[in-house]
Amino acid sequence: MGYIVSIVCLKCGEVIGSCSFWGTHYHYKKADGELFEIYPKSGWCWNCGRLQLVQEGLTKTRLESKIAQCRQDIEKLHLEYADCIGVKAPDMNIDQDFALASCGITVKTADDMLRDKIRNYEWRRLSSKFSMEENEKLLDYIQDRTSLNQCLHCLNCVADEDLIRWDDTDGKRIVKNLRHPGCGGTMTCVDTDMHILFEERDAVIEPLWAGTV
Ligand SMILES: [Zn+2]
Ligand SMILES: [Zn+2]
Repeated sequence: MGYIVSIVCLKCGEVIGSCSFWGTHYHYKKADGELFEIYPKSGWCWNCGRLQLVQEGLTKTRLESKIAQCRQDIEKLHLEYADCIGVKAPDMNIDQDFALASCGITVKTADDMLRDKIRNYEWRRLSSKFSMEENEKLLDYIQDRTSLNQCLHCLNCVADEDLIRWDDTDGKRIVKNLRHPGCGGTMTCVDTDMHILFEERDAVIEPLWAGTV
């Protein structure tokens, strides 16, 4: 499922959004044939002249620092949630919850708060662990090579990744860090109420190695 989001230049009015690739999973293929998923970002492709999904270029140093960051995040979580580690979440008290809800009372009990805290801890720990493992796989895959930013539409390397930072002030989503290239206009995001069901598909791509293009 994808939303249709248009990104519009406030100066020239050009609509430069893209959602054509949402719902597609991209993979790199390891030497032994194993596929692992990569997670593209939105970026500007100078070849296509619009926003596209872009796979960020990778270097050993960049990946090592990401892995170190994940490890640090997990250590910080251990401190922040020291009182949750190894603690079993209290069982839900369905009768009590129902009785309170039927009186319109939505107060959280100490058990509820502990349960929420344990859930948060687990979720944050697993997501840091997952991202550490994904970066370790990429590191193992690229080894000492360097790959370049790659537009996943035209497969060209002329792409800038991670340019989009949303700013939600005034209830308006403005794209930060990216002025409409060649025009200089600020870009804004126009949400539509339309949803699209995409056919899920898998695409195996090759990185663009530095020195080969
Ligand atoms: Zn413009
Ligand atoms: Zn492109």
